[in-house]
Amino acid sequence: MVTGASRGIGAATAQLAAHNGYAVCINYHRNQAAADAVVQRIEDAGGTAIAVAADVACEPDVVRLFEVVDRELGTLTALVNNAGILAPQMRVDEMDGDRLARIFATNISGCFLCAREAVRRMSTRYGGAGGAIVNVSSRAARLGSPGEYVDYAASKGAVDTLTIGLAREVATEGIRVNAVRPGVIYTDIHASGGEPERVERVKQNVPMQRGGHAHEVAHAILWLLSDEAAYSTGTFIDVTGGT
Ligand code: NAP
Repeated sequence: MVTGASRGIGAATAQLAAHNGYAVCINYHRNQAAADAVVQRIEDAGGTAIAVAADVACEPDVVRLFEVVDRELGTLTALVNNAGILAPQMRVDEMDGDRLARIFATNISGCFLCAREAVRRMSTRYGGAGGAIVNVSSRAARLGSPGEYVDYAASKGAVDTLTIGLAREVATEGIRVNAVRPGVIYTDIHASGGEPERVERVKQNVPMQRGGHAHEVAHAILWLLSDEAAYSTGTFIDVTGGT
């Protein structure tokens, strides 16, 4: 299961997962055409995928999403908590409550709800066979994103803490929980912050002097999901070009 897999990092992760042999659920929110295109690309390459619309911030949607996977793809083995949103750049003293509620519900509660559903299926405590969860956090969790979106950065701080806490909670139940922290990656998300070309502006501050690509994040995610990472849990891979 890859949440927010119709575009950007989620789409690249879903395609790499399918290439590596996973049957993949492409979760998306509203952009059905983009989700269907990802499914098509996977099927054209000989893989298996389904697209399922669900708002990760909405508990009944999340419950239904995982039930569809149970029915159509079988036993859940891996969850990538990738769906995440930004709002237009502004200072904290300009933010209203609706914005904060939307960011926190999607970026924090969405990860918690999907993790809950995954644990209920994968934990040996529930008769499951184990599995792996990778949360998509952000380098912003450590930098705070002043003047742009401290709310988003704080939501990713919560994702980091979820990663550590849940990893320790289920460490003896066959489930590993890790996270990746991307830096500035070429995707659509910057447009929702009001600056589609943000990567071009900030890349001078990146030691590698370039933005990252979604597939470069996907490779780190797939490694953390794989048995090659069998002794890693509660840990992080920064995919940032050195920041
Ligand atoms: P993106 O290109 O904007 O794509 C966002 C994806 O999330 C889309 O598939 C979208 O579905 C889905 N989505 C949005 N709200 C959702 C909801 N409520 N329920 C389910 N799906 C939802 O984003 P991205 O840049 O690939 O970001 C992916 C993750 O990486 C996010 O968690 C983001 O915070 C993190 N990240 C990104 C960067 C970066 O520079 N790009 C850096 C650090 C961290 P629709 O297509 O249906 O709208």
